[in-house]
Amino acid sequence: MSDPSALTTEALAAIAQAPGEDALAKVELEYLGRKSGRVSRLLANIGQLPPAEKAALGKAANEAKRAIEAALAARRAELEQARLADLAETEAIDVTFPGPPLGRGHIHVLTQVRRQIETVLESLGYQVELGPEVETEWYNFEALNITAGHPARENWDSFYFSPELLLRAHTSPVQIRAMQRIKEPPIYIITPGRCYRRDAPEATRLPYFSQVEGLAVDRGMTVGDMKGTLLYMIQSLYGADRKVRVRPSYFPFTEPSFEFDVSCGICGGMGCKSCRHKGWLEVGGCGMVHPQVLRNGGIDPSQWNGYAWGFGIERMAMLKHDVDDIRLFYEPDLRFLEQF
Ligand SMILES: [Zn+2]
Repeated sequence: MSDPSALTTEALAAIAQAPGEDALAKVELEYLGRKSGRVSRLLANIGQLPPAEKAALGKAANEAKRAIEAALAARRAELEQARLADLAETEAIDVTFPGPPLGRGHIHVLTQVRRQIETVLESLGYQVELGPEVETEWYNFEALNITAGHPARENWDSFYFSPELLLRAHTSPVQIRAMQRIKEPPIYIITPGRCYRRDAPEATRLPYFSQVEGLAVDRGMTVGDMKGTLLYMIQSLYGADRKVRVRPSYFPFTEPSFEFDVSCGICGGMGCKSCRHKGWLEVGGCGMVHPQVLRNGGIDPSQWNGYAWGFGIERMAMLKHDVDDIRLFYEPDLRFLEQF
């Protein structure tokens, strides 16, 4: 027959080592099982002992049973604690934990190009001048020497709100507004902004686009001043190896008028697919401000003269980054946008 205290020592050791509830249940069955448990068997045999030993052994056996029960309960509580701690470690949501980093955006390529143009011309003393996108017929056309019925109006097919109000077809109205506001030359301004024309979207044009125009009004201005300014701007934006040229053209608001070209950056002027084998790329128009336009702006053309130019910002970005479809600038395709 087992000794109750030895049995207790043995049981407590097994309980302490039990790694989980399953092992603990086995230990419980082995020692305290109702029929075959080792403590239960001990108690069952007491009846056969002489009375002197009966009381002492019965007491020892009951103490052993209580000690084992207490150890089981303690070990169960310990295992439960460990389980909860483990759960907290692996599954809990820690609200103080930093979230995944947000993807950081950057300035749109058209804004980048516009700011570069502004920076270059501001370094020459030009000021940025802004105006309304909804314009009157007078500022959009009449003041720029494009009278009603003038065939050139077809080049600026516009969105009208009423016969007098429209979405501006170019940023030139800002030049008139600036002359009227500043009144006394010298005037050196650039007019970046959005314009609208009734064109179906295609690879080279959109019904909405951005322009930047420049206006310089001073005494004794020449085409050479204009060309030098634009050469400086182009070389600042595209590199010192670029050349520029002007070709005679016609606009109602300048006289003389020119198309303005930049040498192709891919072939260096030799001719390639990108420049359609011309060696030159068209950037925009320019010319000496028509005396009537100066008069419309409140400037006396017998005292002052000036030059003006107007380029598309999308066009300039396309030339800078060799983009062949203007629509890409206004689509949310990150594969395109993230290149810049
Ligand atoms: Zn080329």
